[in-house]
Parts: sequence; C-alpha cells; structure tokens
Amino acid sequence: MDIDTNTRLYGIFGHPVAHSLSPAMHNRAFAAMGYNGVYLAFDVADIGAAVDGGRALGLGGWSITIPHKVAVMPLLDEVDPVARNIGAVNTVVNQGGRLMGYNSDGLGAVAALTEKCVVEGRSVAVIGAGGAARAIAFCLKAAGARITIVNRSIDRGEALARDLDVPFLPLAEFSKPVYHVLVNTTAVGMTPLTDAVPVDERMLVPEMTVMDIVYNPLKTRLLKTAARRGCTVVDGVAMFVYQGAFQFECWTGMKAPVALMRDTVMNLLGKRDD
Ligand code: NAP
Repeated sequence: MDIDTNTRLYGIFGHPVAHSLSPAMHNRAFAAMGYNGVYLAFDVADIGAAVDGGRALGLGGWSITIPHKVAVMPLLDEVDPVARNIGAVNTVVNQGGRLMGYNSDGLGAVAALTEKCVVEGRSVAVIGAGGAARAIAFCLKAAGARITIVNRSIDRGEALARDLDVPFLPLAEFSKPVYHVLVNTTAVGMTPLTDAVPVDERMLVPEMTVMDIVYNPLKTRLLKTAARRGCTVVDGVAMFVYQGAFQFECWTGMKAPVALMRDTVMNLLGKRDD
C-alpha cells in the first residue's frame, strides 16, 4: 500500500493502548481490500483535545476505548440510538465533517453468537452488569433474546435489569440450568487468574451455547469446561473481530474481510484457530 495525499487516517483513542490488537487488524483489512487507509494507536489523556484534533485533521473515523467511551459522547455531532441506549460510544465515523458515534460491542457479540446459535426467542443469562454487559444485553434484547441479568453486586445488577426491563438474579442464586445461552461478560478467568470460573460448572448443560468475552486466554476455564460438558462455545475473539468488522464497514463502505481479521488477531495472540 502506497501512502499518498488521498490516504485516510483512522485510529484508536484510549489509555492505555499499547496492547491494542486493533491497529494490526484494521491495517491488514485495509490492505487486503485495497483501501487507501492507515490506522494508528493514540494514547490519549485529554479526549476533548483528541476529538478536536481528529476533527481538524479530517480523520476518517476512530475507535474509542477505555476510559473515554462515555466522555466522548457529548463531543460528537450525533450519537445513534443504539449507542445512546447503551450509554457508550466505541466507534466514531467522520461523515463529511460531522462526527457520528456508534457502539459496535453489542453488535459484535450478537454477530459472534448468531454464527453458532439462534438467539431470537431464546433465554440468555448475561453474567455481569458492567459496560460490556450493558452493550451486549441491549443488543441481544433487540435481537429478540429473553435476557436475565446475573450479577455479583445486587445494586448494579438490578439497575441494568431495570434499564432493560428484564429480570435480575444475584450470582449467588444462579443455580438452575434453564438457559439456552450463557454469556460471561466479567473478567473472571482472565490472565493471571485463569483458574477462576464465573459460574458453577453444573450450570453448563449440553444444549447450551456458552460465550466468554474474555480472550486472554482464548480458551478460558469456562469455555474448556463448557466444551467438555458438550456445550457449543464462542470465544471472545469472535466478538472482538465482529465489533471491528462493523467499524471497518462504517468507515470504508466495503464488506469486512472477517476471516482475515480473525486470522490476524489469532496470530497476534499466538493461538491456533481450532
Ligand atoms: P466492568 O464495567 O468493570 O464490569 C465488570 C463486571 O464483572 C461487573 O458486573 C462485576 O460485578 C463483574 N465482576 C468482576 N469481578 C468479579 C468476580 N470476581 N466475580 C463476579 N463478578 C465479577 O468491565 P467491562 O468494561 O464490562 O469489561 C468486562 C470484561 O470484558 C473485561 O475483561 C474486558 O476486557 C472484556 N471485554 C471484551 C470485549 C471483546 O471484544 N471480547 C469487549 C469489551 C470488553 P460487580 O458489579 O459485582 O462488581
């Protein structure tokens, strides 16, 4: 790819961003599709100044990550209804000078799940009530799933369940394997505490699909246990790749090369895709 005066600049605004997988994933996708774009990582302390800079320099768009997903919202010209309902933006698209905000996290999770199972009309236990849970539960509900929020702290879990108008169950009372799908949105099982599992393994039964949004390690103890017990499993890289595919499509208007994007991320993580 030759960089010239038509090259469009994209990036990720966050702190920290040193370990982000997005630059490699997006640059490989741009190159494979012959799109004249470059994607860089920007370690941003002052999101207001960064948005002004992106606007002034005419960036084509950018990803937003921790800790700026909420603070960026009032700085944009428009926020789409999905992101507004979730209360966070992770994707900015510069449409002829107007900065549009979207959230692709929940859409990415739904795309990853629907590759492996039907969600419409199915009962889904969402474990966790943080930012990721909010995005995922909102989009799963919009896709027709019957959600139950399951969380350790009652206040936070009840608040999310109330916002979504769905039932809440304290994690300590999560004891009946009556769900078609289980999605872990907590960091339980993430390196270095890889022996931890968010739910009792008796909750994992063969008819279920189990998704873990943690991808470090790729095969969390939850996913290994679920696979051993005969469940269908979906890993966190699938969600990450699909949220990136949504961004790629918004920015370029082209269909995202999803398999290649996944391959790029798997190589970076040093894992075999089996
Ligand atoms: P967050 O806002 O901090 O929420 C964390 C949630 O996990 C809370 O509901 C918290 O429960 C629960 N939790 C934490 N430790 C727990 C424990 N020991 N036992 C039970 N519950 C526990 O975090 P987030 O932004 O939602 O992110 C969560 C995870 O998702 C992170 O690991 C992040 O890397 C990952 N993620 C992955 C993707 C992807 O594309 N695959 C995208 C976004 C995020 P309490 O309310 O009780 O504290």
